Amino acid sequence: MPMTQPPVSPLESIRARLVGLKMARSLEVLDEIVAQLEQKKLSSLEALDLLLAEEFSTRESRRIKMALMTARLTQLKTLDSFDFSFQPSLDRNQILTLAQLGFIDRNEVLHFLGPPGTGKSHLAIALGYEAIKQGRSVYLATLAEIIASLSKAEREGTLAQRIRFLTRTALLIIDEVGYLPLEKGGANLFFQLVNARYEKGAMILTSNRSFREWGEIFGDSVVAAALLDRLLHHAVVVQIEGNSYRLKKHADLMPENLLAAASGRQQAPRRKRGRPRKEGA
Ligand code: ADP
Ligand code: MG
Repeated sequence: MPMTQPPVSPLESIRARLVGLKMARSLEVLDEIVAQLEQKKLSSLEALDLLLAEEFSTRESRRIKMALMTARLTQLKTLDSFDFSFQPSLDRNQILTLAQLGFIDRNEVLHFLGPPGTGKSHLAIALGYEAIKQGRSVYLATLAEIIASLSKAEREGTLAQRIRFLTRTALLIIDEVGYLPLEKGGANLFFQLVNARYEKGAMILTSNRSFREWGEIFGDSVVAAALLDRLLHHAVVVQIEGNSYRLKKHADLMPENLLAAASGRQQAPRRKRGRPRKEGA
């Protein structure tokens, strides 16, 4: 006797298709949405939209979480959590325009310069986060980490691959230029990376040192000049001149001479360098 298949209800069919399509979140909310549909709290189009919206937002937040990990943006900082009133030297509109990411499309280099604690890393990370939300690839490392990884790759004979890896991301954030002494040969390795990315990808650099100190930072004024030549060609320079947010509550405890040393280093030109910025850049 032939086995007759029991008739499949539309709901069971939808369930099976959601399983097949690996739409786990839709499967989870299906019963609830159908209940609302039956109670006429939702129209059929609204129900369909809600089902897809649930799936989409779940996938989107998973994608962002993964991309943040890949980018090494583990310490999440956002523009929303940045207090512009604390840093009046910053042009809020300029930062909000940068957050529209035109500088990434134009493969520009964005420099945040300023004394410690003035929000350079915060802003760099926040822009990285905006880029990830827009589906761009991002990678963040300190200059010391980048150079250590390049020098390790060189020792292991994989320098070309490492440079290719660091050239692939749409936005490379290089934090803390000039905080730590560089290892020997570091300037040359960094130059190779900068040269490989030049006009091919955007970068954000943060530094508490002025450009005139780059010879000292990189231990070689010829390489420093070649680096700056590329890093200032299509560049936006944001100079922050303010107080440390870290010392907001305890600024009085920081010895005068150390405070002066931190900000006395800021001799970067106030004028924006590099190509004149387009309106809205
Ligand atoms: P920098 O990189 O310039 O040394 P950070 O960006 O690391 O400084 O800022 C130091 C700390 O203060 C971080 O926790 C950062 O989130 C916070 N911070 C700095 N400036 C602001 C600001 N204007 N509004 C809110 N938080 C800030
Ligand atoms: Mg920093």
